[in-house]
Amino acid sequence: MTPTTTRSTCPYCGVGCGVLIESQGSQITGVRGDPQHPANFGRLCTKGQTLHLTALPAVARQTRLLQPQQRPQRGAEPQPLAWDMALDLAADRFADVIDRHGPDAVGFYVSGQLLTEDYYAFNKLAKGLVGTNNIDTNSRLCMSSAVAGYKLTLGADAPPACYDDVNHASCLFIVGSNTAFAHPVLFRRIEDAKQKNPAMKVIVADPRRTDTASLADLFLPLQPGTDVMLFHGLLHIMLWEGWTDAVYIAAHTSGFDELRALVRECTPAQVAQVCGLPKEDLYTAARWFAQSPATLSLYCQGLNQSSSGTAKNATLINLHLATGQIGKPGAGPFSLTGQPNAMGGREVGGLANLLSAHRDMANPEHRAEVAALWGVPSVPAHPGKTAVEMFQAAADGEIRALWIACTNPAQSLPDQATVRRALQRAEFVVVQEAYAGAATCDYADLLLPATTWGEKDGTVTNSERRISRVRAAVPAPGQARHDWRIAVDFAQRLEARLRPGLPTLFPYPDAESLWLEHRESTRGRDLDITGLSYAMLQQQGPQQWPLRAGDSQGRARLYEDGVFPTPDGRARFAALPYAPLAEPREARYPFSLITGRLRDQWHGMTRTGTLGRLFGHVPEPVVALHPQDMARQGIRSGDLVYVTSRRGAILVPAQPSDELGPSQAFIAMHWGGEYLGGQASNGEVLAGVNALTSPAFCPTSRQPELKHTAVKVLKADLPWTLLGLAWLPDAQALGAHAALRALMARFPFAACVPFANGVPLAQADTLGRTGVLFRAAGHVAPAPEVLEQIEALLGLDTRDALRYADQQRGQRRTVRRVQEGGHTRLEGVLLAGDTQAEAWIRPVLQEELPAETYGRSLLMPGARAPVNVGPRARTVCTCFQVTDAAIADELARCEGDASQRLAALQNRLQCGTQCGSCVPELRRLVQAHPARTASLAA
Ligand code: SF4
Repeated sequence: MTPTTTRSTCPYCGVGCGVLIESQGSQITGVRGDPQHPANFGRLCTKGQTLHLTALPAVARQTRLLQPQQRPQRGAEPQPLAWDMALDLAADRFADVIDRHGPDAVGFYVSGQLLTEDYYAFNKLAKGLVGTNNIDTNSRLCMSSAVAGYKLTLGADAPPACYDDVNHASCLFIVGSNTAFAHPVLFRRIEDAKQKNPAMKVIVADPRRTDTASLADLFLPLQPGTDVMLFHGLLHIMLWEGWTDAVYIAAHTSGFDELRALVRECTPAQVAQVCGLPKEDLYTAARWFAQSPATLSLYCQGLNQSSSGTAKNATLINLHLATGQIGKPGAGPFSLTGQPNAMGGREVGGLANLLSAHRDMANPEHRAEVAALWGVPSVPAHPGKTAVEMFQAAADGEIRALWIACTNPAQSLPDQATVRRALQRAEFVVVQEAYAGAATCDYADLLLPATTWGEKDGTVTNSERRISRVRAAVPAPGQARHDWRIAVDFAQRLEARLRPGLPTLFPYPDAESLWLEHRESTRGRDLDITGLSYAMLQQQGPQQWPLRAGDSQGRARLYEDGVFPTPDGRARFAALPYAPLAEPREARYPFSLITGRLRDQWHGMTRTGTLGRLFGHVPEPVVALHPQDMARQGIRSGDLVYVTSRRGAILVPAQPSDELGPSQAFIAMHWGGEYLGGQASNGEVLAGVNALTSPAFCPTSRQPELKHTAVKVLKADLPWTLLGLAWLPDAQALGAHAALRALMARFPFAACVPFANGVPLAQADTLGRTGVLFRAAGHVAPAPEVLEQIEALLGLDTRDALRYADQQRGQRRTVRRVQEGGHTRLEGVLLAGDTQAEAWIRPVLQEELPAETYGRSLLMPGARAPVNVGPRARTVCTCFQVTDAAIADELARCEGDASQRLAALQNRLQCGTQCGSCVPELRRLVQAHPARTASLAA
């Protein structure tokens, strides 16, 4: 069969990299970066490079939803049903709720991972057909503060800069963004720019010293939530030192006097004290920002996910306006979108408070324009429920039917106890999803299978306003349908019930017909794309908006003429005061819990979590703590701790981290109940990190403060521990993970993750060997049948397995070895009751070391390793499977200065030479490991 190459985009982050998908027939066989795509010029990060592996049949068969299913009652196994029946059922139930309780009794919760066409269909369905603004999206958790900040100051939700500005900037201010992990390919550009122009100043402001800080000339470890105070303080210094641009302020802005009065109180001494930063660093940052020829700010969730999210965005933009650092190459406030199409959702108005094409819901003319375009008498005027409010309303019984598409609120929303109550209380829950393992699927009355990456057709817009075509490389698997198609099929049935006899509002045969209507909605607006077409995207590649009729290309930068889309054409300074965190640390909850991303995982891990190799960098859920805090409480690395907030508690192993300041804790946002769980003594099932996080939100943007929660951390005393791990056939590993996940609630603490010994990615058209790890702890041993279930799922119930059991002492060991090529290897092991031997048994199994010498010691609790086995190494370079141990070894032999040693390391081990995602960590490791010759000389 002839291989085919299809041009499309990566479905993960807002960088929006172009990909070339290789396929044969209905099978995706490979992925490469698209050298012609202007977002990445051929580069991909670890996540993008492994996309094709997530589509392998062995993975898809175990993870995909392939037919509609109905759950006869809550808690029961879902049963298949035909599409027509499923859609009729959904239309009947939604029509019934609307009839009994009105249109605001239903809610649609959708996703920044939908394509623009999908989004457009859902937005019209809710606002045009049902007549409710109760449509919101997971972009609310990601971008709504950026939207509000731009609108408040610049007049429109339009990022004014582009990626190429990184090459023109003389100062980069990266604040509230771990770009190295969250936008890796953009970070590669920043590294290149810094290498080409070492004089470019890089300032990184973040409570954690993340990998992004490895490139910083100035690192500002500000206290969590104090960004507004920092920005006001920088403006204060700029004013005092005469570093503002009076000409720009006078010509292009309004409201400066009020702001100047506000920041008068924000003296360097006051700011240094509130933010926890040295005064000299504040002066340096202010000087570099204001006096550099071009300053570009890059920011993300650290500003957005905050109860002061709008103020943080707007007060950063103040700095650009006050110094004239906007509207020229290399300058401007550039908000990085988290998701691949958060921008597209904003463009179609797919949020509860927005209307199509950046129109305002409160503006009667704008509502009339949208109603006329859609052919309906009106669209509702009052804003709908935003994400947190929507689930609160469902928990309160106000919203009775929920439609959830392409997102996983049972993992990602804060305050999971309320979210789960909402999903249980709602009369009817539809979940439209590609992956059966998403936690939200467990609550669905109706499951509708959707297509996903490699199968979809439409457009997305990345952070720099660039619209790209998404193309299908393979047909939809099973009975899966495109998201827009499901919305349209449902809408047509619903309108037959709500407005019988009238012509359809949804006459769309394909994605392009939806897009053309969206295009028309932008005519005359700031994001006007009336000059763009699918044909132009095909012929000329991705394009930035605006691109008006008659234009040959879009605009790379906005506001170069100093004219802003406000009534008087002037940008507006925002005189917003600093407000403390919604939930500051205090005596009962003395730690700041910060959340953030891992390098190799994406969101709730429904896709990245299917690949064991992406767990090589961070293998299991942990809470990172400052070493001094751990020492003070007698907590050792790996000890289980309770992390408790006002909403709940989770159990998780502790790990020391020098990235954090004292009294700070960090848990990655990805660890939901699918990977980290257990059951509290009151019977409550623990639901990952968001069992802890706060639903408090910014009053303007309604974006919740996911970045910060006040918690306490206490050492747990769970003496009975369990570790099971085994290599499993590719076709079984993920199924075993799903089944083991169901057993997590049988223990006070449990975690379950896949692992792999992946081959270097350059050769990877297979998964490598895949295994599953199950870890648990409790006060006493569980019933023997629970252990037998775990053994069976790990393939340890075979006759050749060796066993030891001491029921009285709660001890049990099961080991399976295989002979291969004259060697004995460990295939699986269960240590129950005493897991101290993990330190040597786990490396023996995972690194596939010869196991013939271990004999009976494998079965003896408390036995020491018969030969010296080093600790399990961590994978730093995912592309070439290079571990931290190998890097440390090699670095001891590398000589020269830091850059020479890094080059030598890369030359010898190849680490960091393919996707580059590990380069920031390599840079840190170079600093941390002095050369052997250097240390001897010293
Ligand atoms: Fe995908 Fe990585 Fe590019 Fe983001 S940076 S779009 S995750 S390849």
